[in-house]
Amino acid sequence: KTDKIYCIGCGAALQSTAPDQPGYLPAKTFQKYLQQDQLNELYCQRCFRLRHYNEVAELPLNDVDFQNLLTAIGHQRALVVYVVDIFNFSGSVIRSLRQYIGHNPVLLVGNKIDLLPSSFNKNKIKNWLQQQAKRLGLHPVAIQLISAKKLSQIDQLLATIEQYRQQQDVYVIGMTNVGKSTLINAILQARTEFKELVTTSNFPGTTLNEIRIPLAQGGDLVDTPGILDAHQMSSYLTTSDLKYIAPQTEIHPRVFQLQPQQTLFFAGLARLDFLQGPPSTFVAYVENHLYLHRTKLSHADLFYQRQIGQLLTPPHDPKSFVLQEHTLTIKQKSDVLLAGLGWVVVAAGITIKVYLPQGLKPTVRPALI
Ligand code: GDP
Repeated sequence: KTDKIYCIGCGAALQSTAPDQPGYLPAKTFQKYLQQDQLNELYCQRCFRLRHYNEVAELPLNDVDFQNLLTAIGHQRALVVYVVDIFNFSGSVIRSLRQYIGHNPVLLVGNKIDLLPSSFNKNKIKNWLQQQAKRLGLHPVAIQLISAKKLSQIDQLLATIEQYRQQQDVYVIGMTNVGKSTLINAILQARTEFKELVTTSNFPGTTLNEIRIPLAQGGDLVDTPGILDAHQMSSYLTTSDLKYIAPQTEIHPRVFQLQPQQTLFFAGLARLDFLQGPPSTFVAYVENHLYLHRTKLSHADLFYQRQIGQLLTPPHDPKSFVLQEHTLTIKQKSDVLLAGLGWVVVAAGITIKVYLPQGLKPTVRPALI
C-alpha cells in the first residue's frame, strides 16, 4: 500500500509504528478496518478516544512541526489562548511566540491556581504574569487564572474567549505539562453540547494534528499538540521521577530558619547554599512530599556525593545528573524560582548559591506574599 490513509478527525497520516506520534493507530485495529473495507472512516487512536470518551491524549511535537503550527496560526485571524503553568512559568515559555503568531490577540491563561495556598494574592500573580508576558513581547488582551483540574473559572474562561474571539477560531497552545489536555477536557465537560463532539474536519496531509471543537457562533476551538523543551525540569527526569516533583494538591509551604553556611537540598534536584547574611527564614513552595534536607555547607558536597540517588531522590538514576551553581545577591524579599520545582521565599540582604541541573537557571521575582 503506497497511498497514505488519513485520520478523518485530525487529518494526520495514519501509522502503526510510533504511538507517541500523530496519526497512531494500533496495527490490529488497522487490519480490522482493512478487512471490512472501511478505510474511509478511520480515526487515529487520539481522535477515537476524544470522540468516544471525551478524553484528550496529548502528543508532543518536535520543534519544526511546532514552529510550522505556530506559523500557520500566524497566517490566519484567530484568538490565541496561551496556557501557562503558574507553578512553572519558565517551563511554559514558548520562545519567539510573538513573531510566530503575528498580530493575533493573545489570551494568557495561568493554570494550576489550585496549587497555591488561598492566602495568595491573585492580583499579584496576574501582575507578575503580565510582566512576564511583556518580556516575551506579548500584550495579552486578558489574563485569566484557572484550575483545569479543579474545574475552577472554566465558565469565565469560555466567556472571555467569546468576548475576544469575534467569531474567529480559537487556538489553544502551550508547552507540554502545562495542563492543556486537562483544560480541553474541562471545557468538554463544561458544555453539554461539546459532549456530542465529533472532530469531522479533514485536513489531508497536515501534520498539525489539531483537534477542533465547533463553537456555537461559528469558528472552532482548536487543541494543538504541545512541545517539550530542554528548559523544563521534566526533560531531565524520567516519567516516574516526574510525579515526585509535580504537585497535585495545594502546596503547604515549608519553613526553615537557616544560619549562614547552611545548605538546603531539594531531594537531589536542587540545592541552596546560604552564604552570607543574618540568620534568615526560607520558605519552600515545592511538592509536599519532596524530600528537603538541611545540612552544614562544609558537609554538603560530600553528603550529595554519598546520597544522590539514595536519600536524595529523585533523581532515581543520578548517573548523568550534573548540578550547576548560580550565585545570587538578594536585595529585597524575593521568590527564587527553581525551574519547575517551585520556589523558595528568601529574605532581603543575603547572598545565596542555587544549584540546578545543568542548563536550567533560577529566576528571582519580588516575593508574591
Ligand atoms: P499537557 O501536557 O499540557 O496536556 O498537560 P496535562 O493536561 O497532561 O497535565 C500535566 C500535569 O499537570 C498532570 O499531572 C495534571 O494532572 C496536572 N494538571 C493539569 N491541570 C492542573 C491544574 O489545574 N491543577 C493541578 N494541580 N494540576 C494540574
